[in-house]
Amino acid sequence: MRRLTTMGLVVRATKTGEADRALSILTPGHGVISAMAKGSLRLKSKLFSGTGLFCYSEFLLFEGKTMYTVDAASVKEVFWGVHESVENMALAMYLAEFAAALAPAGEEAEPVLRLLLNCLYYLNEKKRPPRLIKAIFELRALSQSGFMPNLVACEDCVKYEGEPFFFDVPRGVLYCASCAAKRGLQPNLDASALAAMRHIVYAEDRKLFAFTLGQESTRQLGAVASQYVMQCVDRPFKSQEFLETVL
Ligand SMILES: [Zn+2]
Repeated sequence: MRRLTTMGLVVRATKTGEADRALSILTPGHGVISAMAKGSLRLKSKLFSGTGLFCYSEFLLFEGKTMYTVDAASVKEVFWGVHESVENMALAMYLAEFAAALAPAGEEAEPVLRLLLNCLYYLNEKKRPPRLIKAIFELRALSQSGFMPNLVACEDCVKYEGEPFFFDVPRGVLYCASCAAKRGLQPNLDASALAAMRHIVYAEDRKLFAFTLGQESTRQLGAVASQYVMQCVDRPFKSQEFLETVL
């Protein structure tokens, strides 16, 4: 039997049988791994604390015919704050489903795992509002996956600042207010929302969360990011509908 030791974030944990958990674990080197944590729902189980939803643990796995079995799980980080409110939980479930969709089994998934861990950290610590965390994840994850929008300047006149802009969702490009008006379009990003969107798409990893945004600009950014997700992904995420009812 092949053994695998890896760090991983539990992005799905479903109770099966008496006290087992069927897990989806997002790993840096192997994408999403399906694994069974036998007996892990028993309080005395050595797997109890490391195999819960949104636990970031070091796993020792054995490869079976159809899935892995968890032999050991040593917890490194638990995002307890995520479980505190329905809003946080719904957002975390959505981000986890989104990340898993971008990380097929067997493929390298370090960038999306790191992004998800950072988003859960900011959500857990209440350091940024959930709506902003959602937009940051969406725009950054899509940019990392081959859907980077072109936010440098107006597509028609190369103007790059000084007024609200229109982000053309289907084409992934910008138009300044005057060029948008000529096309019969209303701007959908004020100056702050555009600056934030540029930051999310172009900033270095370690500076990604180093900005704040007012409420109205966050609303505009969030609306554009949601539309861009619909444009780029094949089908809506299951967790999205519920999230929209609570956020
Ligand atoms: Zn223009």
